[in-house]
Amino acid sequence: MSSATETPNTETLGFQTEVKQLLQLMIHSLYSNKEIFLRELISNASDAAEKLRFEALSNADLYEHDGDLRIQVSFDEEAKTITIDDNGIGMSRDDVIAHLGTIAKSGTANFLSNLSGDAAKDSQLIGQFGVGFYSAFIVASKVDVYTRRAGLPAEEGVHWSSEGEGEFTLAQIDKLERGTRIVLSLKDDAVEFANGWRLRSLVKKYSDHIALPVQMLKEEMPSEEESEEKAEPELENVNSATALWTRNKSELNDEDYKGFYQHVSHDFQEPITWAHNRVEGNLEYTSLLYLPSKAPYDLWNREAPKGLKLYVQRVFIMDQADQFLPLYLRFIKGVVDSRNLSLNVSREILQKDPTVEKLKSALTKRSLDMIEKFGKKDPEAYQEFWKEFGQVLKEGPAEDNANRERILKLMRFASTQTGNSNETVSLEDYLGRMQEGQDKIYYLVSDSYNAAKNSPHLEIFRKKGIEVLLLTDRIDEWMMSHIFDFDGKSFQDVTKGELKLDKEESEEQKAELEEKSKAYEGLIERLGKVLESQVESVRVSQRLTDSPACLVLGDYDMGLQMRRIMEAAGQAVPETKPVFEFNAEHPLIAKLDQEADEDRFADLALILHDQAQLAAGGQLEDPASYISRMNKLLLELSA
Ligand code: ADP
Repeated sequence: MSSATETPNTETLGFQTEVKQLLQLMIHSLYSNKEIFLRELISNASDAAEKLRFEALSNADLYEHDGDLRIQVSFDEEAKTITIDDNGIGMSRDDVIAHLGTIAKSGTANFLSNLSGDAAKDSQLIGQFGVGFYSAFIVASKVDVYTRRAGLPAEEGVHWSSEGEGEFTLAQIDKLERGTRIVLSLKDDAVEFANGWRLRSLVKKYSDHIALPVQMLKEEMPSEEESEEKAEPELENVNSATALWTRNKSELNDEDYKGFYQHVSHDFQEPITWAHNRVEGNLEYTSLLYLPSKAPYDLWNREAPKGLKLYVQRVFIMDQADQFLPLYLRFIKGVVDSRNLSLNVSREILQKDPTVEKLKSALTKRSLDMIEKFGKKDPEAYQEFWKEFGQVLKEGPAEDNANRERILKLMRFASTQTGNSNETVSLEDYLGRMQEGQDKIYYLVSDSYNAAKNSPHLEIFRKKGIEVLLLTDRIDEWMMSHIFDFDGKSFQDVTKGELKLDKEESEEQKAELEEKSKAYEGLIERLGKVLESQVESVRVSQRLTDSPACLVLGDYDMGLQMRRIMEAAGQAVPETKPVFEFNAEHPLIAKLDQEADEDRFADLALILHDQAQLAAGGQLEDPASYISRMNKLLLELSA
């Protein structure tokens, strides 16, 4: 095949520490899934061909009179080797050192430091990470790479060789054909792969969708007439060699889609669903979008790679084109191929091109459709999806006002209706259960599910059988500040403002409330004095059935969660005082009302206030005084 002569200038270099770690980990954790090495190497070869095609758009000389891009796979059963040869972009000496000696991807060091040492868990992680070139060492005891970058003279070829331990050697070689040839010297337990049938079936299984032909020598049929002269073996295409997204949906099966997902995402786990669309007309594009099953480890890293693979008229343009989806859909993987963009677009041009905005809006709708459909088709699996990515989708209403209602439909919340935190409900479920006369969607924000579930603020809702959504993600209060209504119903935080649960009873209730407030006029005044510095005012509660008291915020006050986030970020938080509401039916309140000793009255009032603060998930300003007051009471009890 390729002519490569070595010059005596071999140099030995050490792997970056992270590479050594990765190699170790891979060999141990992917032991049971050895065959993926072929997929990874063919995937790299295909990327290299796409890069060449792209660079050749502006410099056709790079083709060096050979524009037929292809990948060849061959093997030698006796020598126990497999060779993967491509005529793609190839690598210069610097490229080789940068790509095959270090791991350049951002966040890798971070990823490696997150490993637990537990093989099962780590192999999960590595699945999300993608192993690429180094997977060669799962099956090979030695890997030789012969490569030359397109456009460089033949004598600037490079031979890289390593046994995957701590180091690799580099030598200058003459390489006539551009591109990369990788020779794997198989380990004893991997010699089974040096077999035509096995390699063919692996190419079909994992690389059928690759747009480039993957060729192998035709297997000779054992001929009956021994004497006949042997024909020169011919190359044949083993895969379909058409870009998967350009094919008709009806020709493709689930396995095809899954295989392609691994190629575009470098994620070993299966996608949970996908959407393949071709659109013609003014805006012409094909998209293939996938929902991954697990969040990547760097989902919350702002710098983490995200975005789609961009093609223009089937020519690969760039990876991680992040202009085509909003941030709150950053976990979606896939391909977009459009005719409306020019072949020489760059990231800078993409930022200004109005077509990009149109594509973004179309792809956003497609993504939301896909998620919605999946939720309807498999509600149980959707709960898992929601656990992985729900917090990201919650950024949606603030980022994408136009699709707010649709994003809200995708959300799931814990609720007083279900009784456990794992079972969540949608807003549509909620609307379906609303009581007659109820005109609001009630919710409560808290730091934990248990604190939310046991909040005194829910008492009256329980009694009346009105459902309340329990929001416990860090992002929730912030998110709710961007949402006003759903399907014409407004949202109401149950810890804020005066409650008006139903319109009809209101006259009757009003009268009752007035009566109670009158009866407790004295108490309201006394409490107001004692709690003056902590609360805005004191009133009889309509919220409570079991607890003696609770604290209520003003309609537009900042809740505890936002307050904490802002404080942690060192931002100024506006000073607000809650209203102290007490339960007129509670025996402690009756007792308090009768307390003649002003000191004791003050102690009890402060205890009730602090308890209400604690029940709301808040912190006490002066916990020591609370404890000493409580202890004083306990002593009196036991005296
Ligand atoms: P990834 O493909 O995810 O970037 P790899 O470890 O598989 O990671 O490869 C590292 C880099 O090595 C690639 O990004 C590419 O630049 C280079 N590379 C690997 N294989 C080839 C090849 N066959 N031709 C040219 N470059 C290659």
